[in-house]
Amino acid sequence: MKNQLLNILPDEKNLPNALDLSVDEWKSWLCDRGLPAFSAKQVVQWIHQKGVLDPEKHSNLSKSVRETLYKEFSWEVPKINSHLISVDASEKFLLETHDGHLFEMVLMPYDNRVTLCISSQVGCRMGCTFCQTGKMGLKRNLTSGEILSQLHIARENLQDRRITNVVFMGMGEPLDNYDEVVKACRLMVDKNGWGLSMHRVTVSTSGVVPYIQKLGKELPVRLAISLHEADDNKRSQMMPVNRKYPLAELKKALLEYPAHKRYGITIEYVIIEGKNDSIEEAKKLVKYLSGLKVKVNLIPINHFPGIEMKPSTASGLRRFQKYLSDRSIPAPIRYSRGQDISGGCGQLAAKHESELAMDPRVLHKNRRRIDRSI
Ligand code: SF4
Repeated sequence: MKNQLLNILPDEKNLPNALDLSVDEWKSWLCDRGLPAFSAKQVVQWIHQKGVLDPEKHSNLSKSVRETLYKEFSWEVPKINSHLISVDASEKFLLETHDGHLFEMVLMPYDNRVTLCISSQVGCRMGCTFCQTGKMGLKRNLTSGEILSQLHIARENLQDRRITNVVFMGMGEPLDNYDEVVKACRLMVDKNGWGLSMHRVTVSTSGVVPYIQKLGKELPVRLAISLHEADDNKRSQMMPVNRKYPLAELKKALLEYPAHKRYGITIEYVIIEGKNDSIEEAKKLVKYLSGLKVKVNLIPINHFPGIEMKPSTASGLRRFQKYLSDRSIPAPIRYSRGQDISGGCGQLAAKHESELAMDPRVLHKNRRRIDRSI
């Protein structure tokens, strides 16, 4: 199976991609051709469960179905443009779509799980000031097939382990590409598809309130919120989305999110020296989070070229963390994995390998400041 993905030809004939179809779309496609609708389940199993992207090998389908699948679809996945491995064993893949767009995913193996951080868009239009992807602007949305391709490519590279968790924390705002993201999630949790349970799929959003509500009704997977500030004025400066959907509206949507009570909500808080790391800020955060079942991930801001902001000092970080945990809010400090390959939070910029080399002095300095007394 290892070479199947590598052998797939580019989509030269402009055919629809087989990975883009949902189970219902496969049923309609089969019915329209007078073929049995029950084959939809088998096609989905071959593609997503078994990862066989060559219809000629779909052995329990009739010859006519296999031939039609071969003729009418493209079976390509994005090309691997570069593949970097971090000292912490994270792997960053720079992927290229059939029309030449670059995007990234990061594979993070842990002792007890394998998490895949995937992209939903090429670039992002949300413009968060601490994020390099935001500086790219939006190039285009990824299709559901391109989103799912990331799982296929990761699986091919995993050898004897399997993906246990998927997080939409790569490039893009997933709820700004809602339909394709939900379509991909449905196949991730379908037992004939990837078979992941809902609590193993996390959609991370900057706070696009109407789509949080819609997601809650349609497919309540786990939710993570890029919060980073609990003061409306400051958050609006950092994250333009807050001007449209201020904190009060966001909180209401979180309280109503169906999976909130079951799994809780993860709050991402990129912690920046002199900006959002004071006790005043911690107080506002605690007040904002009251009534919500949350865990706050404190993420020291990662460096990328052109950014002036620095991570909080070790003592600042510890003080902030203590304030939260003394008030029964779990607040683990999360060092982004893959920083040395620019694979950390906010660092994804879909650049070629030669442009990615991060100044090791900066990385070392950042780590030392933080590590010294934690
Ligand atoms: S943090 Fe997320 S939503 Fe904000 S610019 Fe970056 S990718 Fe977009």
